[in-house]
Amino acid sequence: MERMKQPANLYLLMVTLLGIVGFMILEPFSRINTTNWAITLTLVGAIILLNHYTIPIPPDGNSISMDSAIYLASMFLFGLNLTLQVLLINSIIYAIFKWKIAWWKHLFNFSIYCIMTILAYFLFIFCNGIVGDINTRNLLPYIVSLTTYFILNTILISLYFLLQQTESSITSLSGIVKDKTFLVSYLSTLLLSIVLGILLQVNAILGLILFVCIAILLSVAFNEHFRLFQETLDKANKDTLTGLNNHGYFKEILQKEVTAAKENDTPLSVAILDIDDFKKYNDIYGHIQGDHLLQEFGAFLQTEAAKAHYIVARYGGEEFALVMPNTDRKTAYSFMNELRKKANDTYYSGVERLPYGCFSFSCGIAECEKETYSISELLNRADQAMYAGKNQGKNLVQIYNPHSEYSIQHSLFVEKEMEEAEYQLKIFLSKDVYTYRHSKRVYQYAVDFSRMLNLSLHERKTLILGALVHDIGKIEIPREILTKKGKLEPHEWEMMKKHVTFGKEIISTNKKLEDLIPLVELHHERYDGKGYPYGLAGKSIPKLARILCVIDSFDAMTTERPYQKTKTFQEAIVELRACSGKQFDPQFIEPFITMIKQLDDCGKEELEKELVAVE
Ligand code: GH3
Ligand code: MG
Ligand code: MG
Repeated sequence: MERMKQPANLYLLMVTLLGIVGFMILEPFSRINTTNWAITLTLVGAIILLNHYTIPIPPDGNSISMDSAIYLASMFLFGLNLTLQVLLINSIIYAIFKWKIAWWKHLFNFSIYCIMTILAYFLFIFCNGIVGDINTRNLLPYIVSLTTYFILNTILISLYFLLQQTESSITSLSGIVKDKTFLVSYLSTLLLSIVLGILLQVNAILGLILFVCIAILLSVAFNEHFRLFQETLDKANKDTLTGLNNHGYFKEILQKEVTAAKENDTPLSVAILDIDDFKKYNDIYGHIQGDHLLQEFGAFLQTEAAKAHYIVARYGGEEFALVMPNTDRKTAYSFMNELRKKANDTYYSGVERLPYGCFSFSCGIAECEKETYSISELLNRADQAMYAGKNQGKNLVQIYNPHSEYSIQHSLFVEKEMEEAEYQLKIFLSKDVYTYRHSKRVYQYAVDFSRMLNLSLHERKTLILGALVHDIGKIEIPREILTKKGKLEPHEWEMMKKHVTFGKEIISTNKKLEDLIPLVELHHERYDGKGYPYGLAGKSIPKLARILCVIDSFDAMTTERPYQKTKTFQEAIVELRACSGKQFDPQFIEPFITMIKQLDDCGKEELEKELVAVE
């Protein structure tokens, strides 16, 4: 017997005993006559056919057999004894055909059917149901009986999965319970027992043949549909060259896994790997052989990853990615490094002419942390670590290090992006000079503050760019609200607050600016959870959004606003401290104040001059 948890074992034993004892007490074979035998065997034949021709239910591929319809119809028309006979004979035949399935599973299955049938029958009788013909008089007993059968089936099987307490059993259980289509379809097959009953009543043999024919037809049609559905799904989700998951589907999987890892508080890592010098390989041997190498390496990766239950995808041209659930960065590193050595030792045709004389790749690893806001942030980190590996000579695995300045190219990249963003911002915010100037000041504070906070290059870039565009959503706010002198009315405030959501929508249209979304959307969240748009609190607000909140508020306090009195730097510092731990994350308040004081020492005018100059 497979190894199982103790309570599951006990439960299995009890249900099996209960089913068998129920069967023995009723002694269904004590009252046999030849007519009964003919009906019994015909019903058995029909059930065997229906167990073969099952109906698959998309999307998860659970399948339904209509055998229960026959058991129930038989029970309503011919009573319990004959139905139990049919059940026993069918179970024996099934066990012979499926001899590879453990014997105790067959017994358990038989017992579950016994318990369901017996209880459904006695409740039918208890509600004054009359066996022998299908009649509207029996409506209530039918409903009670079918419901009992359905509920018992669900409970008996669910309990078994629950008591097993293994991950796969819980997953299959939640898969079935959440699959509403499956449950509704199953319930409908039970209702079909009444249809079958009516058919049998008119002409037993012909009725049964007709019913089985319809079930087979449905099964064939559904199977064909399901096959097509799978085929279409595969085409949409798989890469045609390597057969691995494609980029889009990989991101979907990653998103699901990240959500699950956060919910269950389990580690998760991502690896991105890029084949070294692949262009050279293509140049020497041509694209067709290049394709061939991608296929072979893809298959190798798939086999190795499957052993550790990791999910692989072709991420881009000669880039691959792995989602590694339940894996911290160190374990991920060991795994990928072993894989790298194994790939070095595997011979692929022609690799001897590559610089290393063997096949190699560079790989970056990033672990998902509580503060990781989006999968693009995670992928970006893995990507940066991978490029660090390339820069250090290739054929290397690197874990993302937030304190590494990854490459000079990156800084240049930031400047170029900044120029573009600034240019667009100027056009966007031309109707709102105030917001434009505010954005530029917040941007300048972000440049200084990010240097002081010792943020990684990527974080710095994100914060600075985010600071520049954080109020972009204000272009959607009516001019009269933006420039209104005096206090805003409640409905005007509600409109004003929407700028974060509008901003997110605008930013989302540009894939390159994806990392800025949390800053734009969440810079009005408060540390104590009283902010908007979601009321997130503490560390569940991404770090950069918490930082931006401090900078943004400081500038709002110290500059002239249409609806608020201006504070001096000193007054604003007092206010920052007063709101530390309420509106603001306390860890950033003192460092920010230190920076402001330094600026103040340098002379506020200097700063203002500088800001005017950048405008
Ligand atoms: P590095 O070690 O820095 O990664 O160098 P590299 O040559 O591997 O990288 P580079 O990005 O310069 O070139 C990638 C090459 O991959 C260029 C492109 O022709 C090739 N490639 C991308 N997709 C495919 C594909 O589907 N089939 C083939 N045969 N080649 C591809
Ligand atoms: Mg590449
Ligand atoms: Mg490459």
